[in-house]
Amino acid sequence: MTDMIRHWIAGRFDDAPPQRTGKVFDPATGQVTKRVAFAAESDVDAAVARAAEALKTWRRTSLAKRSTLLFAFRELLNQRKGELAEIITAEHGKVVSDAAGEVQRGLENVEYACGIPNLLKGGFSENASTSVDVHSVRQPVGVVGVISPFNFPAMVPLWFVPNAIACGNTVVLKPSEKDPSAANFIAQLWHEAGLPEGVLNVVHGDKVAVDALLAHPTVKAVSFVGSTPVARYVYETGTGNGKRVQALGGAKNHMVVLPDADLDLAADAAVSAGFGSAGERCMAISAVVAVDPVGDELVAKIAERMAKLNIGDGRRDCDMGPLVTAAHRDRVTSYVDAGVAAGAKLVVDGRGVRADGGADGFWLGPTLFDHVGTDMSIYTDEIFGPVLSVLRVPSYDAAIEMLNNNPYGNGTAIFTENGGAARQYCEEVEVGMVGLNVPIPVPVSYYSFGGWKDSLFGDAHAYGPDGLQFYTRTKVVTTRWPDPSHGGVNLGFPQNN
Ligand code: NAD
Repeated sequence: MTDMIRHWIAGRFDDAPPQRTGKVFDPATGQVTKRVAFAAESDVDAAVARAAEALKTWRRTSLAKRSTLLFAFRELLNQRKGELAEIITAEHGKVVSDAAGEVQRGLENVEYACGIPNLLKGGFSENASTSVDVHSVRQPVGVVGVISPFNFPAMVPLWFVPNAIACGNTVVLKPSEKDPSAANFIAQLWHEAGLPEGVLNVVHGDKVAVDALLAHPTVKAVSFVGSTPVARYVYETGTGNGKRVQALGGAKNHMVVLPDADLDLAADAAVSAGFGSAGERCMAISAVVAVDPVGDELVAKIAERMAKLNIGDGRRDCDMGPLVTAAHRDRVTSYVDAGVAAGAKLVVDGRGVRADGGADGFWLGPTLFDHVGTDMSIYTDEIFGPVLSVLRVPSYDAAIEMLNNNPYGNGTAIFTENGGAARQYCEEVEVGMVGLNVPIPVPVSYYSFGGWKDSLFGDAHAYGPDGLQFYTRTKVVTTRWPDPSHGGVNLGFPQNN
């Protein structure tokens, strides 16, 4: 009998038999290892009701107590991060060291949220008018929905949940149905740390659960991360229902290599950022823009490094694991076929790779295309797999034009030793996160994460200062204590006095 992954509602697992379930695979063997409950609308209602109940006391819990609890959770997560990394690898497929890195980036956000007493300070103006003081406070928005993608089953929930809870909100988390166990493990750690029942709930499932959250009048804000079409849908539906929504979408991240760049460093970066996590990262580099004349040399250096990559089961000593599902592997493979058909030069072919893992694992090896055209689907679409495209351009101006014409604007990098060119790039590029000789410029937890254009719908980026803004409402209070000398009726608008 396969284990059932269940909803976590108000501090315990829901043992009611689910009406619908989904399969969870071990991508390195291709075997079904578990099943996951798919929430019906009534399950979401139950979770939201418990979150709303918990909100009544949690929003009034002192900052000191919230902070103590966050520190306790941070300690537990730090102690158990190895276990969490293994859980991620067993369902996602990424290599264990990469999964550990994901948890570490999540942990940073917990550490940021530990500082909530300082972060949530409002403003105060004494004598804004004579004997009139004004102060502002930031209050929680209420019940928050968090909907996360498969590719970071721990980090993305940790971008949102600690900050939302620290601000006094309660949460219903709907993780990806492809690798749902990490969310339950994290929820149990919160419970162990002393989080009151109902402050964090986890419902599993698919569009049914997402739609129920988007329609529920008690859910006041939604943080979403996933593909662009779903992000757009979540943003439009959620805001249409009167909620705050931040919806982070897909990406096509370009790495520009200028003629003066150190090509060995650039090739190392392209391979690491292109094939880490099998290219299933929203900040993965998928398009290398080689400015003439570096193309031939750069492609040769990238191919040389790719030949040394070991592909296999993420629990073994290898560089790159399988893709998340057979369907996704087949979709990515179809892009490789399409690239060949469109006339791009296939330099390294990952189809038919020999992997150190199960015969039925969802394998596709690192693949490199050169002379890719901007009209080819391997360039226009987010592939989300280990496929790197090299595009050649005659100049910096042509590179920036290509980038700014692309509908996505998540991350980008430029490799150069010319500070002036790098600075100009920073200023001109229409992308939310920019790396200067840094291939994956994911902002640290005390900045905020977010792309531009079709990579993010909404006004607030994720975590950091934007995250706190998103999870709070500002209230401004104007105060005057009775003073007999200031009595009297005055229907005019107050003057400067
Ligand atoms: P996805 O859009 O398929 O799923 C994301 C979430 O939405 C999941 O919880 C899923 O159950 C739910 N969902 C799927 N289809 C839905 C529908 N039709 N209606 C309502 N809900 C639906 O994304 P994914 O495949 O899990 O994740 C990969 C994608 O996420 C990539 O496009 C990647 O670029 C993107 N991503 C973006 C960021 C970022 O910060 N911008 C970070 C990580 C991943």
